[in-house]
Amino acid sequence: MKSQRMRVVVKIGSSSITEANGQLSIAKLESYIDQMTRLYQEENVQLIVVSSGAVALGMAQLGWRRKESTMPEKQGAAAVGQGLLIHAYQQSFSKRGIDIAQLLLTKADIEDRKRFVNIRNTMETLLHFGVIPIINENDTVAVEEIRFGDNDTLSSFVAMVADADLLILLTDVDGLYTVNPRINANASKIDDVWNIDDAIEQMAGGQGSDRGTGGMRTKITAAKIATGSGIDVALASSESKDVLERIVHREKVGTWFHAKSGELTAKKSWMMFGTRTEGQVMVDAGAADALLRGNGSLLLPGILSVQGDFQEGSIVLIESENKQEIGKGVCNFSAWDLRLLIQRSQQGESMRNMQEVVHRNQLVLTSSLIGGENHQRFENLH
Ligand code: GLU
Repeated sequence: MKSQRMRVVVKIGSSSITEANGQLSIAKLESYIDQMTRLYQEENVQLIVVSSGAVALGMAQLGWRRKESTMPEKQGAAAVGQGLLIHAYQQSFSKRGIDIAQLLLTKADIEDRKRFVNIRNTMETLLHFGVIPIINENDTVAVEEIRFGDNDTLSSFVAMVADADLLILLTDVDGLYTVNPRINANASKIDDVWNIDDAIEQMAGGQGSDRGTGGMRTKITAAKIATGSGIDVALASSESKDVLERIVHREKVGTWFHAKSGELTAKKSWMMFGTRTEGQVMVDAGAADALLRGNGSLLLPGILSVQGDFQEGSIVLIESENKQEIGKGVCNFSAWDLRLLIQRSQQGESMRNMQEVVHRNQLVLTSSLIGGENHQRFENLH
């Protein structure tokens, strides 16, 4: 069970923890840890840190250059740097009497429901005992198919797994700007974002520093996942004074992405963002409309076709005839059985007991993330 204490995930980017030459900046680290210690000891805030920096520290240690490195070299550098990174956190927190734990995760760990639950249980246990988890991607094992690739996205999943109240993305700019402030003097900062629509996505073009992998785009992705899961997100400069405390105190700092009010339950967030679909079902207009109006389950007669080879209980993508994504849900039948049932129903056999293909409680609509009218519709689902 989650405790009543405020729970905050702090994501620290590579550029926020290193010097320009890639070496660890002890001064920066100490400043964050000072702030986190006050939040933890004086305000009883539960903290989880997602820290980048392994590749940068490893590169600096080995005298390599990121831009000229292959993926195995970057992974090797991460293996060197992760030790240095966690050692620095451990030293700095232990001076203040706080224990830390290292968790290295990949996307595949989150996609698998059992591993997801294990990660959650481990994290709950650590937090219960006052230990601060320090998380990074397991860069050594993560190949393209199973990696997040950037810690912004990872941090939003961590916030989702931990059922956090707030995700803080610390970076080298002080918020989201209408255009890239590094190249356009007319850029103005957005203080609050209530809905991450196309206009917001467009503002996020461009890359970040060359010490990490995330730019503004991955931060927007992270904000979308977290706010869709009911978690507020603050994006701010790591260099602002007392930035973590000011954010936790809900001061106007950086850009705030506000959580969606009809947030997804943890299971639905995981279904929507956390896992892969294993097949697709295409539904007719009547079924699409009924689903979008929040009118119940996906029934057999509404299904036009099935793609993929999945087992009963798999997560499938539900799409309309014109290939619009409607949502995702847990399918009550295997692909094989579903095809057979469709065939038999088309031949006129009564399928009364086999009607429900995806139960409404096991269904999450894509439109729930877009807001507006469809969002209202989605809320009826609960
Ligand atoms: N996991 C990478 C590291 O520790 C960071 C990825 C990122 O920059 O977002 O270096």
